[in-house]
Amino acid sequence: MAKPIGIAGAGFSGAVIARELAEAGYSVTVFEPRNHIAGNCYSERDKESGILLHRYGPHIFHTDKKHVWDYLHRYTEFKPYTNRVKAQSGGKVYSLPINLHTINQFFDKTLSPDEAKAFISSLSDTSIVEPVSFEDQALKFVGKELYEAFFKGYTLKQWGLSPKELPASILKRLPVRFNYDDNYFNHQYQGMPTEGYTAIVAALLDHPSITVKLGQTLTAEQVDQFEQVFYSGPLDSYFEFRLGRLAYRTLDFVEIRATGDYQGCAVMNYCDQDIPFTRISEHKHFAPWETHEGTVCYQEFSRLAEPEDTPYYPIRLLEEKKLLNDYVALANQQQNVTFVGRLGTYRYLDMDVTIDEALQTAETFLRCQTEKTQMPAFVISPLS
Ligand code: UDP
Repeated sequence: MAKPIGIAGAGFSGAVIARELAEAGYSVTVFEPRNHIAGNCYSERDKESGILLHRYGPHIFHTDKKHVWDYLHRYTEFKPYTNRVKAQSGGKVYSLPINLHTINQFFDKTLSPDEAKAFISSLSDTSIVEPVSFEDQALKFVGKELYEAFFKGYTLKQWGLSPKELPASILKRLPVRFNYDDNYFNHQYQGMPTEGYTAIVAALLDHPSITVKLGQTLTAEQVDQFEQVFYSGPLDSYFEFRLGRLAYRTLDFVEIRATGDYQGCAVMNYCDQDIPFTRISEHKHFAPWETHEGTVCYQEFSRLAEPEDTPYYPIRLLEEKKLLNDYVALANQQQNVTFVGRLGTYRYLDMDVTIDEALQTAETFLRCQTEKTQMPAFVISPLS
């Protein structure tokens, strides 16, 4: 009998690969160390209030990839949802991402789009040609005042590092707009799965050829039992951290329960450095089509992950990149193991990219099987 496929991790990466290969006729076993599926996208209904909670922080689905959007619609229903974030800075509330409303509120002006463009460009630091750091990027695009009000403190709290030491790519996630569009994302498709993310992953894994083993870890010693292993756990954990640990930021959540409406929006960022949390999310606002008397909010505190903490954001500074290089070299020597996803490739990935890459990985595997070639350790390089 042919050996089954082994998958480490029941998040989006593992579940999509499991589904694609089960559909292609393989028998698949998914090992998930936690006692639940869906990884950090895990959502569940709160018993007390009935609110759908995003247990590991807010997840809003947004993408430009139509095939990913269509793929997920096979497994769930989405309701239209637009992420509109508010931010507190210096004791006032503003609209995010920085848009014409933010600029006019902050500078107490009534500028038109063209006037705002000219005004912001007069504030920007034109001496910076090729921004390398987060700070350079911010100073070049919005100038010192907006940088200090909205980015400096938040980023220090979120990453525990000066924006001078962080790459410009982190800020490139956020748009700056000279109109009143306050949609946090630039993507064409955006929505919230009506029954939450756990329901999507459960639907993906609901196939007669897929077995899910909760509370179990797939280790390097077990690889020989499988035709191929797809590993979506932390890359360094596969090698038992033998070269050292890749650094992550983790999050602590402080729960607030109340009745009615606590803050009037789903996400309020706190940009000042002296407020210790980065944001408060109020989860019933992620499902505005539902009605709940109670409300549940989470203050989010970011800190360096210790070995026993849940890893969230890969840090990827120079030092981690060196270590990452060494782990990549080790991984490339393995047979029949492919590393996937945010933890397997140590990259800051949005859900849509994770799903797209998982689809590509399954496709690559099927091609390698047909062509009788070796499946690579990485379909998408961690160094990209
Ligand atoms: N950021 C900031 N101020 C804000 C929101 C974000 O400085 O009010 C910076 C911060 O460094 C953060 C990055 O922009 O890590 C990306 O923000 P995003 O909202 O995409 O972060 P996520 O929701 O993935 O945590």
